[in-house]
Amino acid sequence: MKTDELREKYLAFFESKGCVRQPSDVLVPTWDPSVLFTPAGMNQFKDHFLGKVKLDFTKATTCQKCLRTGDIDNVGRTAFHHTFFEMLGNFSFGDYFKREAIHWGWEFLTHKKWLGIDPSKLTVTVYKDDDEARKIWREEIGLPDHVISGMEEDENFWPASAPSLGPDGVCGPCSEIYFTLPDGSNVEIWNLVFTQFNRVGEPPNNLRPLPSQNIDTGMGLERTASVLQGVPTNYHIDILRPIVHAAADVVVQKYEYKSENGRRLRRITDHIRACTFAVHENVYPGANGAKYVIRRLIRRAVLDGHQMSMREPFVYKLVDAVADAMKSQYSELGETIPRVQDVIKSEEERFFATIDVGLDRISRLFDDMRLRESSMVDGGKAAELYTSFGVPPELLQQMAAEEGFSFDWASYQSSMQTHSEVSGGEQNKLFQTGPLETLKEVLRETPFVGYEKIEDLCVIKGIVAGDGSDSEDDGLLLGEIVVGSGQPLRVVLDHTPFYGESGGQVGDAGMIVGDGFEFTVTDTQKRAGLFVHHGVMKSGKMREGQTCTAKVDTDRRTALCRAHSATHILHHALQKFVGGHAQQQGSKVDADWLRFDFSHQKSLSDETLAQIQQDILQNIDADAPIGYQTVTLADARKAGAMMLFGEKYPDPVRMVSMGDFSKELCGGTHLTRTADVGAFELLAEESVSAGTRRIVALTGKKAKEYRDSTVHIVTQASGTLGCAATRLIERAGELMTDIRGIKKTLSSGKPAGHPAVFAGSSSAESIDFAVARAILRDTARILNVAYTDVATRLQSMLDERAKLLDEMSRMTAGGELSADDLMAAAETINGSRLIVAATPGANPNVMRGWIDQLRKSSDTPIAILLGAVQDDKVVLVGGLSHALVDKALSAGTWVGETAKLVGGGGGGRPDMAQAGGKDPEKLPAALEQAKAFMRAKLSAAF
Ligand code: ATP
Ligand code: MG
Repeated sequence: MKTDELREKYLAFFESKGCVRQPSDVLVPTWDPSVLFTPAGMNQFKDHFLGKVKLDFTKATTCQKCLRTGDIDNVGRTAFHHTFFEMLGNFSFGDYFKREAIHWGWEFLTHKKWLGIDPSKLTVTVYKDDDEARKIWREEIGLPDHVISGMEEDENFWPASAPSLGPDGVCGPCSEIYFTLPDGSNVEIWNLVFTQFNRVGEPPNNLRPLPSQNIDTGMGLERTASVLQGVPTNYHIDILRPIVHAAADVVVQKYEYKSENGRRLRRITDHIRACTFAVHENVYPGANGAKYVIRRLIRRAVLDGHQMSMREPFVYKLVDAVADAMKSQYSELGETIPRVQDVIKSEEERFFATIDVGLDRISRLFDDMRLRESSMVDGGKAAELYTSFGVPPELLQQMAAEEGFSFDWASYQSSMQTHSEVSGGEQNKLFQTGPLETLKEVLRETPFVGYEKIEDLCVIKGIVAGDGSDSEDDGLLLGEIVVGSGQPLRVVLDHTPFYGESGGQVGDAGMIVGDGFEFTVTDTQKRAGLFVHHGVMKSGKMREGQTCTAKVDTDRRTALCRAHSATHILHHALQKFVGGHAQQQGSKVDADWLRFDFSHQKSLSDETLAQIQQDILQNIDADAPIGYQTVTLADARKAGAMMLFGEKYPDPVRMVSMGDFSKELCGGTHLTRTADVGAFELLAEESVSAGTRRIVALTGKKAKEYRDSTVHIVTQASGTLGCAATRLIERAGELMTDIRGIKKTLSSGKPAGHPAVFAGSSSAESIDFAVARAILRDTARILNVAYTDVATRLQSMLDERAKLLDEMSRMTAGGELSADDLMAAAETINGSRLIVAATPGANPNVMRGWIDQLRKSSDTPIAILLGAVQDDKVVLVGGLSHALVDKALSAGTWVGETAKLVGGGGGGRPDMAQAGGKDPEKLPAALEQAKAFMRAKLSAAF
């Protein structure tokens, strides 16, 4: 049976039992802090199991995309593990229970109409104390005793070992179904979880029956397919084998099941499938969390390829094969192939650039360990390999394991403390508890009335102390609170006009006022359906149960609406001028300020930016109506609404449309007409990470302020440079060139004239905004500063130039002295020349230049020591011909001794040395001493 057929049969079977077919959840459930990736089908139903949401159905069936980081090391090692796999599940929320779950599972697996697996090939396990399950298997299904094994709580309880070790809360026994392979070994294909208890405290008698019992099941799609298709490993089933072969082609190897390369090819297959799905859902490789897992998987695949002689990116070439193999259930993969390839390829490029050095380091590390007979890889070394060569520690650990070395995670972690780059695989509490969760159990969710109303009469349902910053849901529930300490508080209402931060739009602020109190709301957050108003008491006493008026800060809300509506208009323009791939990666909508990240490889040209700005202004001018409708997801898709992969949309969903040019699924607040955006200004276009660009823009009031300040900054900056505004870019460029020239002159030691052309004289002309904006943007770009910093940057460049010119003028003064003058003053001792002189105004570069020149032009051995005063400090430079150095004389000692006399020190090589001192007034005497010192040396040397 084909895998696609198996998937469909499963869902159809459970539909026939009354389960409602639900879509898979996304791969990265951002709403669930306890996991990085969706690990199982039940994950999206956690709140259903706890009765914390309104149940539209009590039985469900799904095919869930899963990714288990815990199985990374099993990939390639076992025949039946993947990182990414599909789990088929059926779920009961207080509906059917143990009997039906067992009967239906068995019926689906063995009945001719469905899978028709030979029952003698199946064995089962139950939790040792679950007599009820054992009885059903034995008496109702008719299994002989010897195929039913009773297991301990660490194997057959969920969560594992919950009865003795906890956590408190819902839990229950499991029963698994195994298939017997031709070689007599077993593979688990199906797991039934019977959540029937609430654990309360320590054993014994700590398992209380739940009033509402649940069923959570999982069948591995690939495992069951491999059993049905009679292949020895999941990797040989119809949807995976083509990827294995594509991988073999790309790395130019023949695929052999049993060889080491066979194992590598299966690992590459697994990892590229996982990464294709993840990147498709906008999870890009990176340094933390889920992103880090994707980085690790790509790098592991690269390493496998490297060991098969690949020296440049190849993994990305398999994206096509994955999309093709998975197309029947996941046709959407076909829509993002180029983007996914680009992202994977650039991560490969980055790793290939360092991999050779990294591997070389690793083999040296292993050699060294063998030599020292140590068996544990040092964590500090591992940290260095990761930060400098990109070798993820888990990879190093795997390679070390192959050599029989262990890995020191503790020292790795401590070495990495400074980089917050730990993979974050740690599991948090499975189910949350706390004051807000308590409120949620009663209230389920807060109805939001803020689309229609900005102010409403509400009831206070809960007051929680603290702002929740220590842990997600801490603090105490308070009955009442009096103004006083100014402590942060959270308030939950029966319903609210305050928008809770979501979809990029920040939360509303405002006031909650009631009889005898005022509460200032500084922010509103959403916590799994509850709207939580953060803030402080302003006056009086507030009590739970009190009626109050919730008033949103209208000006701020309107500014938020302007920015949000403008974001949609911008998204539309990006699609139009950059392309369909320029999809939203992330966004933040604040008061008249927005940030929008989108997929694109290169920076946008000025032309494109101008087109985008133009298009946006046109759409604002057109004053198109903005409206919203609640529609089913299917209808939204039909209407062509923009949908983002990896985003979890409710069904039905809110669709916001503007005129007839934009339709987006969005829960945010919006204007009613596009003209109300008022003004729009693009502030910046920049890179966020590989393959992602960012646009920052302003709307309404802030855009107008920006317009005013732009003109002001340009006027100020051109005043600073004493030029017309239209010549600002040119003059800024000249200033940069000029400074570079002066620096060059100074270091060459040959003074040259530089006119004082940048003296400021203000030129008061009025310029129009469009011109000013272009001038400012280009000037900011050549100076490489933010637009707000242009004027200050120019001023500091002028200051720097003045200082350099000052140095140069001192050098010019000193420059009246020439090498010839110095030579004329030389005295001869024992056939050698000696020059000791003060060279006022010269800098060390010039002094060294003279020394070189003198050494070259002297036909006899020569010793030179020059002294100058620069910035109130003494500079001494000395040099000797090689003939003198050969006689064991040293410029270093000479200069060093002299420096002591001017309150300093220093030295250098025997042929050339430099030192400083802090007593300029002692320079003449010191030079006299220096002369005497060398006279004596020269007399003695020959
Ligand atoms: P195993 O012990 O074999 O790793 P598990 O006990 O972790 O399996 P469950 O958590 O019970 O598995 O998941 C339900 C079903 O999902 C399993 O019966 C199996 O068919 C499938 N499954 C679990 N992990 C994987 C994986 N890494 N790759 C493929 N299928 C898996
Ligand atoms: Mg497992």
